[in-house]
Amino acid sequence: MAAAGIDLGGTKIEARVFDDTWVEVARRRVPTPDRYEDLLSAIEALASFADTVAGCKVPLGVGSAGVFDPQGGPAVAANLAVNGHPFGADLTGRLRRPVSLMNDAVASALSEAVFGAGRGADVVVGLSLGTGVGGGVVRHRRPDEGALGVAGEVGHMAAAAHVIVDAGLPVFACGCGRRGCVEAYVSGPGLARMALHLTGEELTPEEVAAQRQGAMSTVWTCWCDLTAALIRQITLTVDPDIIVLAGGLSRVDGVLGDLRSAGAEDVFEGVRPARLALAEGGDASAARGAAYAALQAGGAL
Ligand SMILES: [Zn+2]
Repeated sequence: MAAAGIDLGGTKIEARVFDDTWVEVARRRVPTPDRYEDLLSAIEALASFADTVAGCKVPLGVGSAGVFDPQGGPAVAANLAVNGHPFGADLTGRLRRPVSLMNDAVASALSEAVFGAGRGADVVVGLSLGTGVGGGVVRHRRPDEGALGVAGEVGHMAAAAHVIVDAGLPVFACGCGRRGCVEAYVSGPGLARMALHLTGEELTPEEVAAQRQGAMSTVWTCWCDLTAALIRQITLTVDPDIIVLAGGLSRVDGVLGDLRSAGAEDVFEGVRPARLALAEGGDASAARGAAYAALQAGGAL
């Protein structure tokens, strides 16, 4: 049975239609509207496109930035017009079908658990290191978003204090309204902010990463130490079979080796190392995971 997934981000909405062997057969991308009603209409139009491609009312999932209450409460999404709205219920109403709405990092983690680096593993954690820092827990090929829908929101756990103090970094404010969150340091913008504080240089995250073996080595070491500490915290709370890294910073050359050198896989002396891997699904992961969840919700999987 065909399925469709929509990846909803701050700048673009992308729909992908998959056939029953999970080959992508069509794709359409539109800019993300600023107004909630317009955003619902844009998704409705993408759903119609997917229906036309599939030749039926296709099962549909949406992976979006934000936190979505499994009990249908208002969405929390700082940079999207869905913030404060009962987004899941409104989508179901507009699209005249059940819609599997989930956090995009959770959708990507599900895709990796089923199709990607986590294939065959019982418990998979996806960790997205990009413009934000997010994650998702998947158990036995099913997303586990927890009671409030926040399981895996690891970007808003506390960044490791010893690294911050040793490096002489301040306690950064986070976009969530709290201070000292991992995301404030380990996201792309966080990496650039650390570079500014430690070297006085105003660089993009890509520029910092490109100079990680040169002028930005101290900054990169800090990033690796903080990310390794986050990965250890994930291991200590979830203890997954594998942690799969995704997002822009996961594509920096040699990042896996650098994180291993920083102790990301070391938990306790004598305990075997945790397993880290890079995502395999690329840009299609969130849409593919959301589509897969839609088929699961419909009982087809
Ligand atoms: Zn935060």
